[in-house]
Amino acid sequence: MKITFGKALDIFNYPFFKLLSTAHEVHVQNFDEQSVQISDILSVKTGGCSEDCAYCAQSVRNETKIPKQPMLDPETVLEVARRAKERGASRFCMSASGRCMTSEAEFEKICAMVTSVKALGLETCVTLGFLTEPQAAKLKKSGLDYYNHNVDTSPEFYSHIVSTRTIDDRIRTIEMIQEAGINVCSGGIVGMGETNEDRIKMLVLLANLEIPPRCVPINKLVKIPGTRVDDSSPIDDFDFVRMIALARILMPKSYVKIAAGRNTLSESTQALCIFAGTNALFSSEKLLTVDNIKDNADRKLFDKLNLRIENPQL
Ligand code: SAM
Ligand code: SF4
Repeated sequence: MKITFGKALDIFNYPFFKLLSTAHEVHVQNFDEQSVQISDILSVKTGGCSEDCAYCAQSVRNETKIPKQPMLDPETVLEVARRAKERGASRFCMSASGRCMTSEAEFEKICAMVTSVKALGLETCVTLGFLTEPQAAKLKKSGLDYYNHNVDTSPEFYSHIVSTRTIDDRIRTIEMIQEAGINVCSGGIVGMGETNEDRIKMLVLLANLEIPPRCVPINKLVKIPGTRVDDSSPIDDFDFVRMIALARILMPKSYVKIAAGRNTLSESTQALCIFAGTNALFSSEKLLTVDNIKDNADRKLFDKLNLRIENPQL
């Protein structure tokens, strides 16, 4: 049954502890609440992107100063993936800047990366922008488990953030990837000037897809000087937790992930998120071009909360 915006708004506005306990109940019914899935991510191609995403350091339309890096070699990527596995990651994500893959040689390199990372015993994820059907089929054949393609915000707020594509373009790609038999990872960014209504509408959109994304990353905007949202007001921590709880309730079978911006959340806020249904995190020190978690901070938090790292091999 489709979820209405009104119903989702009612849930979002529950008394805080009722919202948390409802979300936790859904979480316990669908997942092992003591375990958290860990991914690492690497930017395999950085910068020089023609899209105009207001938040992104890699867009040529923003006044950012990140160095451009051409596509890495599969051997270099494999070495990073090996170290990620040693640190406990069960999934390795490879991200390329750009609207889509324009070079056949680069796409072949991505397929080679997927195959070799998969052979390490890691789940594989790539995020490459738009795909064609033959590319999706080739990625599936190469061993791809997940494709990340974020919808980023509500349909109503989308044009404030990106003008070089529409949210419907993104949704069509998500459906095409699912038809190719690949799990979808899709969520968005909060703190770009959108309202709580926009955040709720984004979650309703994802929950109402024919197949909701298997993984829903919630990024807290990392403000990058020179981007067009570098002065927007940050999301309130309790609203962030409410969003996580709503995502858990609307998408009971999906992994709900805290992605970018986690280093600006206190340990206590992260613990509330985990209670409310977060069960996936990025643990790499860098998230593409920005800093993430340092000094084994995850392990320390997991010890304090008696959490385990999920191991899909077991
Ligand atoms: N070019 C591909 C695309 O747009 O799908 C893949 C790379 S893109 C950098 C991957 C995702 O990173 C974006 O969809 C966006 O949600 C997230 N992201 C980028 N910059 C961010 C920022 N400053 N803060 C939070 N999330 C960000
Ligand atoms: Fe390009 Fe992706 Fe950044 Fe948008 S988010 S500017 S598509 S790299």
